[in-house]
Amino acid sequence: MSRVPFVNLSRQYRIAQSVIDEAVGRVLTRGHFILGDEVAAFEEEFAAYCGVSSAIGVGSGTTALHLALLACGVGLGDEVITVPNTAVPTVAAISLSGATPVFVDIISTSYTMDAQELEAKITPKTKAIIPVHLYGQCADMAPILAVAKRHGVWVIEDAAQAHGAVYRGRRAGSLGDVGCFSFYPTKNLGAYGDGGMVVTDHPEIAEKVRMLRSYGMRDRDRQELKGVNSRLDELQAAILRAKLPFLPQWNERRRELARLYDSHLDGFGVLAPQEMAYGCHAYHLYVVRCSQRDRLRAYLAARGIDTLVHYLVPVHLQPAYSELKLPQGSFPAAEAAAREVLSLPLYPELEPEEAEVVAKALSDFAREP
Ligand SMILES: *Cc1c(COP(=O)(O)O)cnc(C)c1O
Repeated sequence: MSRVPFVNLSRQYRIAQSVIDEAVGRVLTRGHFILGDEVAAFEEEFAAYCGVSSAIGVGSGTTALHLALLACGVGLGDEVITVPNTAVPTVAAISLSGATPVFVDIISTSYTMDAQELEAKITPKTKAIIPVHLYGQCADMAPILAVAKRHGVWVIEDAAQAHGAVYRGRRAGSLGDVGCFSFYPTKNLGAYGDGGMVVTDHPEIAEKVRMLRSYGMRDRDRQELKGVNSRLDELQAAILRAKLPFLPQWNERRRELARLYDSHLDGFGVLAPQEMAYGCHAYHLYVVRCSQRDRLRAYLAARGIDTLVHYLVPVHLQPAYSELKLPQGSFPAAEAAAREVLSLPLYPELEPEEAEVVAKALSDFAREP
């Protein structure tokens, strides 16, 4: 029996090998590795892709969020609102800034922030809101931005899973005050190592992040802020530049595969992800929902199909956040999702035959007694 792995990154390398090898060779030959032409060029190209004026390359998605928060003036004693069903880095970045994370529950259909619950969580200490475009689908930003505007707080998008996702005609990252991306290798646009990006239309935020990523220095001799060392490096930037032109077709392929899976799920006990009418889902992950999730997972595993759960433990229930004293039951929609979601193999280079194997297994599961 042939296995269907959750992801296989070497396939993508084979497709783009000539341009990637050329990019790596170019950097090694030039001999300049930190903050050079490749980073500057990729920042410009990625800003244009997102439809914003500035982009700043940093060392990871976590650092992108961390430095975005610092640049917005968030620190000790402040509160930052986000959702509990996210990758832990969203919340780790809030803690790194010194602020306290405050959680708001999600909308069950989109798994993204419920703006109706948001306003009640705002206090005089609230400085920022971080909606997460989970699985590649944008949060419903209009009502979130309206609440933020009423209360004068920043909106920082966690777009780490949403390169190229669209909300009402605009790309993820350009919707709030600041957008944060990760180039972790498995993301829709992935480096061969860690990397991240902050995008914004606020010149003063861009300027601060630019200093913060490099010790807080304005130039060689002048330190204006207390910063970190977290820069996107030239090799990763060159690789990402080579890959960026492929992103639209790769995202389109993800959407085709999603439609194929969708067509096998109609009317069975396994629910397909729901694409909201307000945008275009980038399908970083294809996440089904099933009340018998663990049984489904074992069933697929027995057929050699790898799956993952994003995420098994909502962040408010992680040991690191026991100090917040938020017991089970605090966020019913997020907790129900954590019990029932399952991510299927879906990436641009998944073979049609592999997708058929997965789709058939799903249909068979639904017909089991
Ligand atoms: C991947 C991811 C991050 C963090 O990215 P790193 O580059 O691994 O630091 C943040 N938020 C979400 C939702 C992610 O999926």
